[in-house]
Amino acid sequence: MSGAERTRVVIVGGGIAGAAAAEELRTLLPDAELLVLEASERVGGKLHRVELAGSTIDVGAEAMLARRPEALDLATRVGLRSAVIHPATTKAALWTRGSLRPMPPTIMGVPADLDALAESGVVSRVGMIRATVQRRQTPVADDVSVGDYVASQLGDEVCDRLLEPLLGGVYAGHARSLSLRAAAPQIAALAERDGSLVEAAAQVYGERPASGGQVFAGLRSGVGQLVPAALEASGATVRSGATVRELHRVESGGWHLVVGPTTGVERIYADAVVLATPAAPTARLLSAHASVAAAELGAIEYASMAIVSLAVPRFAIGGLPDSSGFLVPPIDGRAIKAATISSRKWGWLDEASGDLVVLRASLGRAGEAELLQRTDAELVALAVGDLHEAVGLSGQPVDSHVQRWGGALPQYAVGHLDRVRRIDDSLAGVPGVEVCGAAYAGVGIPAVIATARAAAARAADHLAKLSAAGERMMP
Ligand SMILES: Cc1cc2nc3c(=O)[nH]c(=O)nc-3n(C[C@H](O)[C@H](O)[C@H](O)COP(=O)(O)OP(=O)(O)OC[C@H]3O[C@@H](n4cnc5c(N)ncnc54)[C@H](O)[C@@H]3O)c2cc1C
Repeated sequence: MSGAERTRVVIVGGGIAGAAAAEELRTLLPDAELLVLEASERVGGKLHRVELAGSTIDVGAEAMLARRPEALDLATRVGLRSAVIHPATTKAALWTRGSLRPMPPTIMGVPADLDALAESGVVSRVGMIRATVQRRQTPVADDVSVGDYVASQLGDEVCDRLLEPLLGGVYAGHARSLSLRAAAPQIAALAERDGSLVEAAAQVYGERPASGGQVFAGLRSGVGQLVPAALEASGATVRSGATVRELHRVESGGWHLVVGPTTGVERIYADAVVLATPAAPTARLLSAHASVAAAELGAIEYASMAIVSLAVPRFAIGGLPDSSGFLVPPIDGRAIKAATISSRKWGWLDEASGDLVVLRASLGRAGEAELLQRTDAELVALAVGDLHEAVGLSGQPVDSHVQRWGGALPQYAVGHLDRVRRIDDSLAGVPGVEVCGAAYAGVGIPAVIATARAAAARAADHLAKLSAAGERMMP
């Protein structure tokens, strides 16, 4: 028994998953004591804001998918509804084959209109001929790589120049390594439809609301506000600089968490634990209790990346494209994999940045560790060089910031959904410990929030069952 007067749930990890789990637990268990333990000195995880030339900018996640409800719902629940803002433009471009080219209509990189693809010049004539010789789809029985599947239907060029940059933008991964079913469920759904892949994409594209609906949303002053606001709303006690090192089962029920440096460890009791940590630390904490889950989590690879943010005078950027930014296929051999013209995308930032334009370049994909070994100054120079070629940036930025994200994004390898099933099965034998976060069912903010809410519900359910069995008095 804990000796604690109230039921205590400890949430490990103060990123969006931990914050959303805490916020949901507050609704489910209004009287419980909630404690969030965060290893680093700040909460937020991959949501983070910094100052650049007097403006506050996001240097991690900066947009939330608005077609799913969870992120906007959380923003509303934690008092940020009035800060929700949609991008001023959603036009996107590709920097490929030597030019900036308009992004043709696609469903996650599968072209929905071959004429528009031909007109964009993204794919060569030969590539277009191959894309036009489409096969009638055969159902995909098992999981395959999304790159291999799309290349088999539409040829290598569509895979390399359209699909790769889109997947690179979301997962920082490579299409021929990522799972069709886990990393590109939209494409897996196309494969279930009749006709060719392009016909299926055209149908789905046509079914979208005529207005286009709002696909993405942000928050005025940055989505980095979401985590602190959710933690505040949860009423949880938050401790930063608190690394959880071990998890021990308490015989009478509940768990002890071993926290802090080896020279001064502390044991904290919890009636239930939510692990909202990336795969590697989750694997370590589970290794003594769920060996299968630990091994499966340990096998999930992560891509590292860096975000280079630049503030440049408006006059220094001649050919600002009529888009919120552009993606770069790896096959073009550039240093950057994407650039966002943040001042053009977000009206609030355009107002805040005055005579300056804020640009954001991302570098690094899975397996590109060498690129990120460069110094900050070198990464800035690489970004400036590519932006010079792509959009005519001249001179040097008046301010810059480099944010490195080691272990940024989990790579959902072929078979990821089966892996998650094995993790779930293994965790069924560890009562009172739940997991959530980007490692499982989607890396985007809404998908991560969904895993957090489900973990919170399972933890509350577990505590309710204990209470009903008289093993622990619920408050
Ligand atoms: C550069 C970048 C841009 C992105 N852009 C977008 C975007 O625009 N839109 C979008 O939807 N998604 C975006 N994503 C993805 C999204 O931000 C992440 O998938 C999501 O934020 C992950 O949340 P999380 O809580 O699962 O993990 P994290 O944010 O990694 O949080 C986990 C936390 O656990 C802590 N921790 C780890 N080990 C321990 C331990 N032993 N004890 C205590 N604490 C521990 C960590 O310090 C961290 O704070 C982006 C990701 C990156 C890297």
